Amino acid sequence: MSYDYDVVVIGAGPGGSMAAKTAAENGLDVLLVEKRQEIGTPVRCAEGVSKEALEEFFEVEKSWIAKEVSGAIIYSPDGTQIKLVAGMAGNEVGFVLERKIFDRALARMAAKRGAEVIVKTTATTMRREDSGVVIGLKRLGEYYEVRSKLIIGADGVESRVGKWGGINTTVKIGELESCVQYLMSGIDFDPEYTHFWIGRKYAPGGYVWLFPKGEDVANVGIGVLPTQTKKSAKEWLDKFVRENYPEGEIIEVVAGGVPVTGPIETAVADNLMLVGDAARHADPITGGGIANAIKGGYFAGKVAAEAVKAGDFSKNFLRRYDELWKNDFGKNLHRNKVLQRKFVKMDDDVLNRLARSISDYDLSEISVKKLVMELIKKNPKLLWDLKDLFL
Ligand SMILES: Cc1cc2nc3c(=O)[nH]c(=O)nc-3n(C[C@H](O)[C@H](O)[C@H](O)COP(=O)(O)OP(=O)(O)OC[C@H]3O[C@@H](n4cnc5c(N)ncnc54)[C@H](O)[C@@H]3O)c2cc1C
Repeated sequence: MSYDYDVVVIGAGPGGSMAAKTAAENGLDVLLVEKRQEIGTPVRCAEGVSKEALEEFFEVEKSWIAKEVSGAIIYSPDGTQIKLVAGMAGNEVGFVLERKIFDRALARMAAKRGAEVIVKTTATTMRREDSGVVIGLKRLGEYYEVRSKLIIGADGVESRVGKWGGINTTVKIGELESCVQYLMSGIDFDPEYTHFWIGRKYAPGGYVWLFPKGEDVANVGIGVLPTQTKKSAKEWLDKFVRENYPEGEIIEVVAGGVPVTGPIETAVADNLMLVGDAARHADPITGGGIANAIKGGYFAGKVAAEAVKAGDFSKNFLRRYDELWKNDFGKNLHRNKVLQRKFVKMDDDVLNRLARSISDYDLSEISVKKLVMELIKKNPKLLWDLKDLFL
């Protein structure tokens, strides 16, 4: 078969653009396909990401960042506060992005490195032919096919590419956080922190967040597990907003799902790699997926280049990609899935007790591991079975 491209990337979110950029940088002929007419909109994200996650790969531009924060405050149901410095608070705390700008900037980087980028084009089918793949694309009602050595599925939470390639990416109803978010202005909060409210009182199976985008503007959102509540995410969020920020104006509404399955067994098949939400790489506790999408995209782009060089597009060869993400963030995904299962079962009294047991610690001076070990020591009955995860 003669090929139109070395690699076709489906989806121009952070994962897809990073994969396309990396593959193009490594000399491959790349096509990046996005179904929306504008990359980056509508935003379905609270836009929080750690500084390290961005600085590892990019010279961060001012225009990408709406607000920089120094840490996170977690509120337990009885109002006990735990203050974490940004470095401890995980992959979602540090910068609050303008994803409308950031996602576009990443796609532009891919284009600058030589990737062809097309929007308003949906990938609808895929079949294997000889040693490559034929991908069906629909653009403005017209169907056409392109031939490629590899396909990278970066098509987000509703991914179909994995299924086409025979990878099991099924998300059960109990593993899909249902999220709603308002961009709110005219509200009063401490803009130096991102804020999280946990417990059934606020968000069964999830949490409420407030991510500052300015002094009085923030993304205020919620994720709940539909198996844990009969009320919708919107009903829970409206209650929270009524009780806490009645003075605010809602200037944008966002709804979406976040897969919290934990790591899938493999994100590769013959001719195919999955990255980001399509590979279920979002963090099972926080739901954050930008950092892992970028990293996964980078790994997939690199492995694509190695595969093209070797002329080998088999699942066996592409397992290198599985190794890379598993050895990097795969362990955290696994650990956080175990923690999330436990967290979902905890009632509000337990969460209050846990929060109170560490509320007087100076959390700027202790590592996450030490903090968790302290929590386990102070609450052995509840948490003893978790200790091996942190040793
Ligand atoms: C309400 C909410 C809040 C969130 N907050 C945060 C947060 O604060 N921090 C964080 O790290 N993560 C957050 N997330 C998760 C984060 O948004 C995702 O993990 C991240 O966007 C994953 O990037 P991605 O590139 O894998 O997929 P996406 O960003 O979802 O991009 C996938 C792209 O593929 C395109 N596409 C899909 N199907 C096709 C097709 N067939 N053909 C062509 N194109 C296609 C889509 O249009 C889309 O542009 C949040 C999610 C939600 C829903």
